[in-house]
Amino acid sequence: MTNKKILIVEDEKDIADLLMLHLRDLGDEVMSAADGHEGMRLACARRWDLIILDLRLPGPDGLEICREVRRRETYTPILMLTSKSSELDRVLGLELGADDYLTKPFSVLELIARVKAIFRQVAAIENDTRFPADRVRAGPIKINTAARAVTINDNQVDLTAREFDLLLHFATHPGRVFRRSELLDHVWGHGHVGYEHTVNSHINRLRAKIEADPADPTCIVTVWGVGYKFDAEGVRALAC
Ligand code: CA
Repeated sequence: MTNKKILIVEDEKDIADLLMLHLRDLGDEVMSAADGHEGMRLACARRWDLIILDLRLPGPDGLEICREVRRRETYTPILMLTSKSSELDRVLGLELGADDYLTKPFSVLELIARVKAIFRQVAAIENDTRFPADRVRAGPIKINTAARAVTINDNQVDLTAREFDLLLHFATHPGRVFRRSELLDHVWGHGHVGYEHTVNSHINRLRAKIEADPADPTCIVTVWGVGYKFDAEGVRALAC
């Protein structure tokens, strides 16, 4: 992996130093900011391939910086660091759209694995940008949004309207973890009176139609305690 520019915004010096040390192997340019003001300035100053953002910072916090970065036109992957899982709930509830989250304390190996996964997801999306606007492609899954048709390895897959919307939502947000309540909002619509088990049952039916082994899904994977995500690598494994 080359030409990656990574920004670390972290006020705990020990953690920032550790991240710098290990991420230098993954990026050709790694910078760090020790507070929210410097973090905000650097985050907005240029294009980054990844921003690792601590939630609690002196000055503007991680959420404010994330919100500002998301306002920009260029898409920047964000990995958010939180101190407790209760904070993670808050972050996810705000739907600010970090690409992944890690709760402290985390192992360096886990962090490196997450960073590599984010870079692979981005590469998978960039490879697919040659596609026409009404086509979404994720590995062997091709979605024609105009015809509302789906093929996997060029075999047609019959989906209900809701299953189609669910798949399209996942495929256009690879790697993002969605809570069941977020899926209800995005796919069923705001104000929909639904239950989270509605989401589970639709996901199970969708998995039965698209996964190689629905009992061991690799495309729409369960993130325990949080929700679901669409795994671009697992999707590519469907190719035959
Ligand atoms: Ca902190």
